[in-house]
Amino acid sequence: QAKHDGRNCWRLYHPSMKEQIVQRRELENELRDAIHANQLQLVYQPRYDVHSGKVATIEALIRWPHPRLGLLMPDQFIPLAEDTGLIFQLSDWVLATASQDAVEHFGTLSVAVNISAIEFRVSGFVSRIHHVLATSGLSPSRLEIEISENTALSDPDRVTEIILSLKSIGVRFLIDDFGAGYASLSYLHAFPFDGIKLDKSFVIPTDTSESARRVVENIVGLGKAFSLHITAEGVETEEQLTYFESLDCDALQGYFIGRPVPLGELKQHLSMQTTSPTCPEQAD
Ligand code: C2E
Ligand code: MG
Ligand code: MG
Ligand code: MG
Repeated sequence: QAKHDGRNCWRLYHPSMKEQIVQRRELENELRDAIHANQLQLVYQPRYDVHSGKVATIEALIRWPHPRLGLLMPDQFIPLAEDTGLIFQLSDWVLATASQDAVEHFGTLSVAVNISAIEFRVSGFVSRIHHVLATSGLSPSRLEIEISENTALSDPDRVTEIILSLKSIGVRFLIDDFGAGYASLSYLHAFPFDGIKLDKSFVIPTDTSESARRVVENIVGLGKAFSLHITAEGVETEEQLTYFESLDCDALQGYFIGRPVPLGELKQHLSMQTTSPTCPEQAD
């Protein structure tokens, strides 16, 4: 009877496990091919600078139009890329493409690229950045690196050295999804970041929740105590825009200001030279 149950159990369990492994392997191979065949795409989202009242930075976000599975979002393949080491090739492609687009199409605006914390674990990060700057001709002061954390930053001394080395030529470093990842108060102390991006899970509920507003006000105060540049991400409503401006945040990003769009569409927005986030259809 145990044998019987066991067999039934295996019949349900075994094929799906095997299938999962095969599917993952297949996706890994397809991702490797897609990187080399230039089949990944970037969409670009504006970041609005509160002080100048203008868009000052454009963030690159990756997409994978998969032939069988449709448009894949980063959450569906970045973890795989991190696990398999493909993240390095993927990031090099993102850095090269975003830098080139910035030089050709973004005028004087900065470009922000997302880099996984895991990429700081092996040596070579500094030379990868020098290489992309040399190849694209992008001024280092126009490049921002947003560190997103599926794993914690380890080895503070080494990471600090990397950050300082690139900061000395003008590259800026932001810690992404602040409040939701591994980053904590001790992080702000340990690493010489230029700024933080407040995670959207804190930003979105400020419309309705008093306690969410109190948490946000404390994080903003904390950032200011460390003299950090503060971005609120996930600004979806006019109320949120007004609220975060009143908190003296430095920059705002979110669907209310602008959704991530392909390069062609971004160029149209930029050519309209919109200065106010509240009337994006109004040319100067
Ligand atoms: P992130 O860097 O924090 O980017 C913000 C995410 O929130 C993006 O999702 C963006 O499309 C979305 N978003 C922007 N404004 C709003 C809003 O107002 N409301 C809501 N609900 N969402 C908003 P996306 O594009 O799916 O990217 C998810 C994450 O994947 C990114 O979070 C980033 O951590 C990672 N990622 C994206 N591109 C890359 C990349 O090239 N390399 C690496 N390593 N990671 C990437
Ligand atoms: Mg980001
Ligand atoms: Mg974020
Ligand atoms: Mg994120």
